[in-house]
Amino acid sequence: MLVASAATVDAGAEAAKAKGFSVRDIGGAGRIVIKIGTNLLSKNWAVDTAYLRGISAQIASLIKAGKKVLLVTSGAVGMGAGELGIREKITSVRMRQACASIGQPLLMKEYKEAFARHGLIAAQILLTREVLNNRKTYLNLQNSVETLLSLGVAPIFNENDSISTAEIGNAFGDNDRLSALVASKVGADLLILLTDIGALYDADPRVHPGAKPIALVPRVTQEILACAGAAGSTFSTGGMRTKVLAAQIAGRAGCRMVLADGREPDILARILAGEEIGTLFLAQKKPASRERWILMSSPQGTISVDEGAIEAMRKHKSLLPSGIHGVTGTFAAGDVVSVNDTAKIVTSLSSVEIKTLMGQHSSEIRKTLGESKRDVVARPEDIVFLS
Ligand code: GLU
Repeated sequence: MLVASAATVDAGAEAAKAKGFSVRDIGGAGRIVIKIGTNLLSKNWAVDTAYLRGISAQIASLIKAGKKVLLVTSGAVGMGAGELGIREKITSVRMRQACASIGQPLLMKEYKEAFARHGLIAAQILLTREVLNNRKTYLNLQNSVETLLSLGVAPIFNENDSISTAEIGNAFGDNDRLSALVASKVGADLLILLTDIGALYDADPRVHPGAKPIALVPRVTQEILACAGAAGSTFSTGGMRTKVLAAQIAGRAGCRMVLADGREPDILARILAGEEIGTLFLAQKKPASRERWILMSSPQGTISVDEGAIEAMRKHKSLLPSGIHGVTGTFAAGDVVSVNDTAKIVTSLSSVEIKTLMGQHSSEIRKTLGESKRDVVARPEDIVFLS
């Protein structure tokens, strides 16, 4: 059974056309994150040098045309396994860590050589989830990325798999979402996910031969998520679901996403020329940088509040201890926490402090914790609603 009608989801394109513009007008995107999946980068258990050189040449053309391009590469685990002569999926976390540290330099060597053919320099940035969550390391990262981009150097990202067990276990999960987080953090206009599946289909094409590709997704809904069955191969961890989740993350950060077959000739130029290829996921209005950071950080705990507090927050008022009736998790002041799964805030009090003060008047904060404390749990600028 087909789970969504391609006609319904393509209706957004018609509406845009009627308003006199094409949703595929994406050539103006100045800052682009491109994610390349393991399946595209590997052949016969090693780096597919021809593919990597071809796609690097396409990226080099974009850079030379003035685009700021950030690359997210997969393939470290797969290349490491190939180097060790392993031919089956590696399930042990330790082994995946080892393979990643063997494979990552092999990948980077190929990128270095491929970019050098076009007079360009490649840089490596390995990320962990904590780096993106922590405001300080995130700002450091932003500085190095901006410097690299201003030098015309392409930053090439991957998860630091050797130390980030969450990623290669599956809590963080995959480079699809990693690339969406990178896109969101750097304020990208466009995220391109290159994969060996050309589009999102309205049903799993391997099971339903009549499945139709979806050209446009105006918004990631439950119906769209239902289209994305689990996939993945021997060494990659993502599937269609993680790609749709990536679109959701990018969309919330104001970044459109195109999912396309990375083996199509001149795929990058064709996407930017507006060719209707793959699936285009539209984005919401781009939030300000700090808001994006709050939105994209994983919450360190949850605060439960009453409806009155939610209403006040929606009216751009601060979150006060009086409206709080529960706290889960252990977090420090300055951490991002979620509020009733409705909003995310940067809390000015730790979980222990909130537990002491919840339900009380805000004047109690300074009386109990000292004058240096703010008299609110979160100011309006520290609060971001999820929808
Ligand atoms: N970071 C992993 C690697 O480089 C890939 C994760 C993924 O396939 O999404 O091997």
